[in-house]
Amino acid sequence: MSRIFNFSAGPAVLPLEVLKEVQEELLDYQGTGMSILEMSHRSPSYEKVNAEAEEDIKELLGLGDDYCVLFLGGGGSLQFSMVALNFLTPGKKGGYVITSTFSDKAMKEAQKIGETSILFSSKENKYNRVPRPEELSYSNDLAYVHITGNNTIEGTEFMDYPETGEVPLIADLSSDILSRPIDASKFALIYAGAQKNIGPGGVVVVIARKSYLAGRDKALPTMLNYEVHMENNSLYNTPPVFGVYIVGKVAKWLKAQGGLEVMAKRNEEKAKLVYDVIDAHPDFFRGYADKDSRSLMNVTFGLPTKELEAKFATEAKAIGLDGLKGHRSVGGLRASIYNAIPKAGCEKLAKFMEEFYQNNK
Ligand SMILES: *Cc1c(COP(=O)(O)O)cnc(C)c1O
Repeated sequence: MSRIFNFSAGPAVLPLEVLKEVQEELLDYQGTGMSILEMSHRSPSYEKVNAEAEEDIKELLGLGDDYCVLFLGGGGSLQFSMVALNFLTPGKKGGYVITSTFSDKAMKEAQKIGETSILFSSKENKYNRVPRPEELSYSNDLAYVHITGNNTIEGTEFMDYPETGEVPLIADLSSDILSRPIDASKFALIYAGAQKNIGPGGVVVVIARKSYLAGRDKALPTMLNYEVHMENNSLYNTPPVFGVYIVGKVAKWLKAQGGLEVMAKRNEEKAKLVYDVIDAHPDFFRGYADKDSRSLMNVTFGLPTKELEAKFATEAKAIGLDGLKGHRSVGGLRASIYNAIPKAGCEKLAKFMEEFYQNNK
């Protein structure tokens, strides 16, 4: 077996320890004589998986009983609609901070449901940055403020979250959830497609203040009503069981690493290795994001020509560094260095970048 360093943006690398445990347990889950894929979601074994995944995520984020964690289907993209359906009440506007293609998509879904307002947009500059807190203001006709915490395609990330006061703050943290400690209690609701940083495709993690989900419109389609999922502990219908099981294992893995403080330190060191090469040769490695807005999860850059970019990706792949091609919408190169990328992966990438520069400058 040979495992490569996988810099894919998502679905993305998972901790090897987690994959091995999954492999070991696959045919006989903890003495039940069957796999977790084959058992009822109402069984005690699965209920334990579901409950522990919720508890571990809350523990990692330092949240108490006033918050719940839900495991839903439909990907990050269905959350764009669910947020608006549940919280965009008549007479109010959904406030959107547009820092990426994904924020724009979130707003477009809300526009099908109600009124929206753009609080900030870096679209004209190809989404090269996130706003500073003082660039944002909040009128009292806002139902909520929606931000995209980490902009997966462009490689920018909020390090300081907006202070929205009385206005509920909602965040799409699909690509940086559980990568560092945050003050999660600032948020009315956080959602994250698991496949970037904490699990496989097919499950979305929603972390929400219970009081914010309560008392919602009973006329909403049942499956699109957060309150239904909260009241049923994510077991209203058959949940994406395999995904939840893996997310639960990743949460335990994060705890075993020492929690989010340790992950933050490791992620900062990893990102620095790659950004340092970019900064050493800025005419060659053209960083996409403003320095102040750089993401610790997705490092985006271009090279002087498209031919060099293609060559870079091909040569990198040949030495076991895969998934470095940028998103089709922005081109260039992107190294996604999520939690499960070991530091050795970033060291090898940085070394390759330096050599590529010397050979092609
Ligand atoms: C990938 C991604 C999405 C979309 O998630 P899907 O699960 O593919 O629907 C939304 N927001 C962000 C920030 C993402 O990175």
